[in-house]
Amino acid sequence: MEASPAEVERIRELALNRGAHNAKIIPPSSVAVGEWVRLKCKFGCDGYSRSLTCPPFSPEPSTTRKVLDEYEVLILLHLPGNWAHLNDIAADLEREVFLRGFHKVYSMASGPCRFCDPCPMQYPCRHADKARSSMEACGIDVYQTARNAGFTIEVASNHDSPTNYFALLLVE
Ligand code: SF4
Repeated sequence: MEASPAEVERIRELALNRGAHNAKIIPPSSVAVGEWVRLKCKFGCDGYSRSLTCPPFSPEPSTTRKVLDEYEVLILLHLPGNWAHLNDIAADLEREVFLRGFHKVYSMASGPCRFCDPCPMQYPCRHADKARSSMEACGIDVYQTARNAGFTIEVASNHDSPTNYFALLLVE
């Protein structure tokens, strides 16, 4: 079901009420997806292949591009400093928006899955209701996507650098 502008605005307000610092409505075309993002996961991230939400189990970038283009509206959620809380907000929103009648709604999170330690690496996922692949695990260039949406984001160059986390809600 296509969301009207008023409904999209209500969902955006829900995100803010749940604790997102910002929530911006963006078109699918503004999301940057790259095959190179997979290389960053495979060579350079110690989370590679350690949970069902991460590569190689998460969608390939080419699949992500197609999936994004199947939606009319995306909402980019931003929360500095607390990726776990941001992921809870995104998962809760996905459920709530689904119950409002938008059967295609889906969310992409931030960072690795945190629910089991270690991940049993067996389907079904133990927390299928809320464990979602991160934007980056799906091949999204989060930096460029955030900049395209008007956010200022730089590489965290040391432990004292501010951290910014993003999640994505696909609404329809
Ligand atoms: S919720 Fe548990 S089983 Fe599912 S991906 Fe995360 S760590 Fe693995």
